[in-house]
Amino acid sequence: MRLRNVKGSRETIAANEFALKNPEQYKGKWSEVFEQNLPIHIEIGMGKGQFLMKMAELHPDIHYIGIEKYSSVLVRALEKIEENPLPNIHFIRMDAENITQVFEKGEVEQIYLNFSDPWPKDRHAKRRLTSRQFLERYDNILKDNGKIIFKTDNRALFDFSLEEVKEAGWSVELCTFDLHHSEYLEGNVMTEYEEKFVKKGNPICKMVIHHEK
Ligand code: SAM
Repeated sequence: MRLRNVKGSRETIAANEFALKNPEQYKGKWSEVFEQNLPIHIEIGMGKGQFLMKMAELHPDIHYIGIEKYSSVLVRALEKIEENPLPNIHFIRMDAENITQVFEKGEVEQIYLNFSDPWPKDRHAKRRLTSRQFLERYDNILKDNGKIIFKTDNRALFDFSLEEVKEAGWSVELCTFDLHHSEYLEGNVMTEYEEKFVKKGNPICKMVIHHEK
């Protein structure tokens, strides 16, 4: 993602009701703080939030939390949600490395990873959001048998992820190397990056995984 320093983005986030401040305060208390006590699905690296906002509209019975590292990107999502406010969506500006400081084991039912940054250099492998280090973090916040749903057009990242999944002892319940020409396309909600890559004709890979205990 091309990053521009958006002036005043930190102040905009601080003043926005959809952006949760000091998210560590919710750890272990998500079901108490949000009255409806809905199942929580999160997207890590949600960018401008198109996918998550569509999902929140389609599934009012799920509480969606979007996590994004950069203020300059998150403000774009906040602008969009202000135009069409939804009660079942919130955002957190944070590095997903710290995700276990925000959710207790079992508080998250599903994690979406969409078009995650590839970090192509070997020495940066542990920064990839599907690395074994991240899978361990996810294990510490997901419900038993909670799922991770990962889409990318980057075949090298997808192949790496399949290796990491195997190494970490997770099970693959769905895997396709060309989602848009597969039986799994029905009900697919496109992300911003997905729209761009599908237009270019890139095949989209998708996996659904869970960690059996
Ligand atoms: N998911 C969106 C989509 O499919 O259109 C955006 C994809 S973009 C390539 C990846 C996003 O992940 C960027 O906005 C980036 O800032 C964010 N990101 C990368 N590493 C992250 C991390 N460790 N924690 C939170 N967000 C991260």
